[in-house]
Amino acid sequence: MLTPEAYRDTVAETLASLRLSGVNPGACWGPDGWSNTQGQLIASLDPSNASSLASVSGAAGDDYETVLQQAHRSFELWRMVPAPERGALIRRIGDALRQHKDALGTLVTLETGKIKQEGDGEVQEMIDIIDLAVGQARMLYGKTMHSERPNHRMYEQWHPIGVVGVITAFNFPVAVWSWNAFIAAVTGNTVVWKPSPKTPLCAIAVQHICNRVMEKQGYPGIFSLLVEGPGQTELANRLVNDPRIALMSFTGSTAVGRRIGERVASRMGKVLLELSGNNAVIVDDTADLDLATPAIVFGSVGTAGQRCTTTRRLFVHTEIYDELITRLVDAYGQIRIGDPLDPDVLMGPLIDADAKQRFLDAVAELRRLGGDVLCGGAGVDRPGYFVQPTLCTADNGWDLVQRETFGPLLYAVRFDSLETAIAMQNNVKQGLSSSLFTNDLRNAELFLSHNGSDCGIANINIGTSGAEIGGAFGGEKETGGGREAGSDAWQAYMRRQTNTVNWGRDLPLAQGIEFQLPAANPRLR
Ligand code: NAD
Repeated sequence: MLTPEAYRDTVAETLASLRLSGVNPGACWGPDGWSNTQGQLIASLDPSNASSLASVSGAAGDDYETVLQQAHRSFELWRMVPAPERGALIRRIGDALRQHKDALGTLVTLETGKIKQEGDGEVQEMIDIIDLAVGQARMLYGKTMHSERPNHRMYEQWHPIGVVGVITAFNFPVAVWSWNAFIAAVTGNTVVWKPSPKTPLCAIAVQHICNRVMEKQGYPGIFSLLVEGPGQTELANRLVNDPRIALMSFTGSTAVGRRIGERVASRMGKVLLELSGNNAVIVDDTADLDLATPAIVFGSVGTAGQRCTTTRRLFVHTEIYDELITRLVDAYGQIRIGDPLDPDVLMGPLIDADAKQRFLDAVAELRRLGGDVLCGGAGVDRPGYFVQPTLCTADNGWDLVQRETFGPLLYAVRFDSLETAIAMQNNVKQGLSSSLFTNDLRNAELFLSHNGSDCGIANINIGTSGAEIGGAFGGEKETGGGREAGSDAWQAYMRRQTNTVNWGRDLPLAQGIEFQLPAANPRLR
């Protein structure tokens, strides 16, 4: 653990190397385009000790218009820049992120409380999506079709869509924005970001990094920023309702995402939703417990259970139930909780006092319902918002288990047949991530079949969290249906156009329809 002096030095060095000050402006529309309005002062707190890292002066209504107008002007220029050249700008941001990986990773740790390994991992994820985006810039493929009409050529092409609004959650304060922003940028769009009020410094640091590259390359306003304070939703709502926002990408809770989805749909805008999960691991009687045990622990305890893909439910075959539970209780007992900058610590705090209280309320509800707490179940008595990683027994049908409690709380349930386990796994409203641990080929294929997992992500012999860039990430049902970060997810950031070109001397109609003017058709003369 750092001494108080070493901690103060780390904070000061991290802020300085990322160009952050004691008070930072909360709106930016590109290089040198920082707001000087004195908005609501938002304190950024370190959840591991509840101390203030720095403040942000929240964006105001005038800033909103400035940001939107600049983003729109920039879009009109940027969309005509050849896509590989757009990729070159993003590649330079990747170079800058590589240089700042350690400092930005530390800031992610300071502002979210996730351990430094995971803070750095988030920045690595930004770099990985940049590598993907740079290549994607040369692969914005459209299909060609064979026309039924002679001397006609038919094909589809993809055009930039416009200004993309991105609203993000606290738990991935830089990676989730980058999944959206870098793919949106190489596809010819500009991006306005409204980050979580719990992690505003991460957003401002990223904006500084992007500004320097935009300035050097002479492209203003590709990326811009609007920060508003806790409980404030005026600017977020303006983005959601603004017809100038062609695509609204939202990552956060289902409760908020549902309202945003409805409002964007009512103005016929496009929306991309990445919402809550309630993810499960199934362990059958053939599973390799040496694989399953660490995967379950990382899935349920990593990021203190504050990932959308966190393992929340565990279905264990009755034959191996006792052995696996014994191993898990032992592994949970070895989790070092504490200062997330300490390399020996595996679990940091929850994000704030409310999150801690929700966790404690969930454990109390579990006990009232008759669930057994097998280990953990309490808060940790130290400054900051620490709780114990908790493993308990529960019933899949309980309302508590059907909800996402955003903390390290894992519900264990026994099963006798895989079909029953899959049915229980699917029997929730969310549909993000799922895993089966098995050495039985038939079981693996059943889990991945039409009769298997109904989630957007289904894994064999790896856990529910820790997805890598390249695959389309997202979930079904109340997780929102969005896909980001790989495969054909780039298409969401573009508009598709079908083109038919007649290079002949006649005008044949599709479906063989005859429609000749009187001069050409003797019957109509
Ligand atoms: P949240 O829904 O409280 O907040 C998300 C964002 O929405 C924040 O920027 C917040 O300021 C903003 N917001 C809040 N109320 C709003 C309103 N009425 N109108 C417009 N914007 C509003 O979520 P959170 O607590 O920051 O994040 C945790 C949630 O996010 C969890 O449910 C988690 O599963 C989910 N999440 C999902 C994914 C995914 O990819 N599926 C990734 C990360 C987090």
